[in-house]
Amino acid sequence: MAIPLPTAWLNGEFLPVQEARISPLDRGFLFGDAVYEVIPVYDGQPFRLDEHLARLENSLKAIRLSDAMGRQRWRDTLLELVERNGGGDQNVYLQVSRGTDKGREHGFPAEPIAPTCFAMSSPLPRPPAHLRSEGARAHLVEDLRWRRCDIKATTLLPNILAKQAAHEAGADEALLHRDGELIEGSSMTLFLVKDGVIHTPPQSSAILPGITRQVVLELAHELGISVQETALPLEQLEQADELWFSSSSREIMPVTRVDEQTIGEGRPGPVWARVQAALEASTRQGKKQAVS
Ligand code: PLP
Repeated sequence: MAIPLPTAWLNGEFLPVQEARISPLDRGFLFGDAVYEVIPVYDGQPFRLDEHLARLENSLKAIRLSDAMGRQRWRDTLLELVERNGGGDQNVYLQVSRGTDKGREHGFPAEPIAPTCFAMSSPLPRPPAHLRSEGARAHLVEDLRWRRCDIKATTLLPNILAKQAAHEAGADEALLHRDGELIEGSSMTLFLVKDGVIHTPPQSSAILPGITRQVVLELAHELGISVQETALPLEQLEQADELWFSSSSREIMPVTRVDEQTIGEGRPGPVWARVQAALEASTRQGKKQAVS
């Protein structure tokens, strides 16, 4: 029996993802003139959906694209998409581009055009077991991105090249550095633990305002663990007890090596274990609340 194709949603219509069609004149295709979100779903419940939709609104505003959908329509659409794809644990991707223009003009379209709105979902990958038991490897890469990394834009070439460089160096993720400071991963937020205190770069246009970052800060507060939002000079790697990356689809990933440098004792640390356990409890809470 043929396996049904996952359902996607394009401009108001649900359809099998392979049947979704977008014009080559779409500005998302031509220019990367688009923003996106990635939202994890646990037991059929999108985790921190409101925060993701608020970040989408900020990204749209930053690129001066009006929000054609609005939060409620996005919420209804994504919930239906998750249901049509069988509930459970999923990774929802959504993208909004400036739409399909008549030609290839850099400036905004002369006449108003409808944005292209797209969403799809795939199974949520579980963080690989060996990364939890042994920790991940990171590879230092210079951060060559633009100066508005707070916008979740689809123009990801520097991130892609950094990730590929990491893979070619035998590492799991790129650790981006700029002007002598550690910034974030190619698609993950950075945390460093020293003497029981969690350090993470402050929110600025140099990093993405990670939703998981916010969750980690809240959980640390609940667990009574101190947090310092502060710049991280490269030299701090030598003194770090623990290093982590976080993202919506990969939760909190301990890093035990950066190139030839061993981090702390070379195994995932106790502060990571506490915060990751609290995150796991939190991601399943929606379901518990829904059934209780
Ligand atoms: N930093 C970058 C550059 C990212 O691309 C991502 C996620 O894609 C993150 C951080 C983590 O953000 P979030 O926790 O919202 O997934």
